[in-house]
Amino acid sequence: MNFQFATASRIIFGAGAIQEIGLAVKPIGRRALVVTGRDPGRANQLMAILSASDTEAVSFAVAGEPQISSVESGVAFAKRENCGLVIALGGGSVIDAGKAIAAMLTNEGELLDYLEVIGRGKSLARRPAPFIAIPTTAGTGAEVTANAVLASPEHKVKVSLRSSRLLPWAAVVDPELTYDLPPGLTASTGFDALTQLIEPYVCPRANPMTDGYCLEGLHRVARSLRTAVFSGRNQSAREDMALASLLGGLALANAGLGAVHGFAGPIGGMFSAPHGAVCAALLPHVMAANLRALREREPQSDALGRYYRVAAKLTGNPHATADAGVEWVRELAAGLPLPRLGAFGIGKEDVPEIVAKAVNASSMKANPIVLTSAELTETLRLAL
Ligand SMILES: [Zn+2]
Repeated sequence: MNFQFATASRIIFGAGAIQEIGLAVKPIGRRALVVTGRDPGRANQLMAILSASDTEAVSFAVAGEPQISSVESGVAFAKRENCGLVIALGGGSVIDAGKAIAAMLTNEGELLDYLEVIGRGKSLARRPAPFIAIPTTAGTGAEVTANAVLASPEHKVKVSLRSSRLLPWAAVVDPELTYDLPPGLTASTGFDALTQLIEPYVCPRANPMTDGYCLEGLHRVARSLRTAVFSGRNQSAREDMALASLLGGLALANAGLGAVHGFAGPIGGMFSAPHGAVCAALLPHVMAANLRALREREPQSDALGRYYRVAAKLTGNPHATADAGVEWVRELAAGLPLPRLGAFGIGKEDVPEIVAKAVNASSMKANPIVLTSAELTETLRLAL
């Protein structure tokens, strides 16, 4: 057995954890750039905490998914304002923007050169500026992942800036920040968390550490996602989902993902569909396709037994079949406010292009079995 495991230097978890940030930043003692989503007012509490601990801060808003240009303006603004510390408060997009800004504050040259696929994949020569991630949704786990997904509208794709150096200096996960998330967003981000606990668990690069995180996270999603959606102020459900998201991030960053994310990458580049909703539409169909293919072609695969353990965690029945796990996921999705892929304008005519792009996606290579183009086509059609 050989594996490596890396994560953020420090994880601060719990209701009210954001209050700890004053003490956490004090030793760094530098002026902070606070990256937020569209509404910088959401960071008022954070700004007050920073000011109470004598940390100067200026805010920078990134509306929607981060683009190369928004990162570049963030870097220019941070340099102008003499910021030596970056704090991102928001969903996965805001955290990814913060990671990229922190990296480009200390590394020279053009951002494009450091990007995969459309750039040269140049490695980060310098350690980024200290970066603190504070998620306000429970799903992406971006606070503990080593990549930042950026959109290039010009190339019509989303690509990653990827380096172990992007792992945050600190991840502050405070479930209280998710209490006001609306039901639809809770459901879609929660399904991203669920997907990010199943895919790393059945993927061939899983290791005993990621396995433990996945099983613990699945147990928490199973008992709390529905409650978090329909009773947003339920503190233990919100805590479970914040933890499940963190555990999924730890697992995916150290194992890998699979076909759901293999599809979600190209779909996210071609359509403006929320990532979690795409995962929810695809997850039961990908699970069913993987099970069928494993039984037909690789009945000895370790992944088959893993699907049984997933089913046991989700259903709470230790004797559940792998198919009962798929059915549980299907029923959960059907009972939550989640749109189908068709709602984002994705139609049958788009299937061949999405499949052609998905085959080469890095997540697809971590799927427990290689699915044929015919199997991918069928799976995607079922999710429309
Ligand atoms: Zn995801």
